Amino acid sequence: MLPPGHIAAGYLTAEVLLKITSPNFSAVEYQHLLLWGMFFGFAPDLDMFYAFFKEKAFIVKDLKNHNHRKYYSHAPILWLATGVSVYFLAVSTYVKFIGLMLWLGSWTHFLLDSIEYGIMWLWPLSSKVYALKDPELVLPIYETRFIPYWWQSVKQYAKFYSFYLEVLIIITALIIYYK
Ligand SMILES: [Zn+2]
Repeated sequence: MLPPGHIAAGYLTAEVLLKITSPNFSAVEYQHLLLWGMFFGFAPDLDMFYAFFKEKAFIVKDLKNHNHRKYYSHAPILWLATGVSVYFLAVSTYVKFIGLMLWLGSWTHFLLDSIEYGIMWLWPLSSKVYALKDPELVLPIYETRFIPYWWQSVKQYAKFYSFYLEVLIIITALIIYYK
């Protein structure tokens, strides 16, 4: 899934959590927690920049060695442990909720990454990635120039279930936001 879908899913996760728990926050805190949800919905993909750094380019040619979903930063257990630690160590309810956003926003990300390609759900026990469809899928992109590379990636991605789900998630998020 691409950043807009992950950000929208993080937003929806935050809205659902805040609606279910209905904590006593000011309007500003509520807005900030939505932003934290959006950030943590996307945050695991910041490890892409490490892959770019390794590739010395803003594309990834060597997906076998520079696949960011195989980095520890895409291991769900680490995000769960961090989120739960923040929750229990925090004194204020607001910071406790940032901990919850960290856990739930990132886990929404990992669930969506588990439709195609997959996530190392059992790391550190195993580095195997689990997906509903096509685990360890690698898109055949032979372009090395930046714009053609990303254009081809998006064109190929548009053939997958994740793409349609991503569009649906973005539309749902926009409807709820403007409602
Ligand atoms: Zn990801």
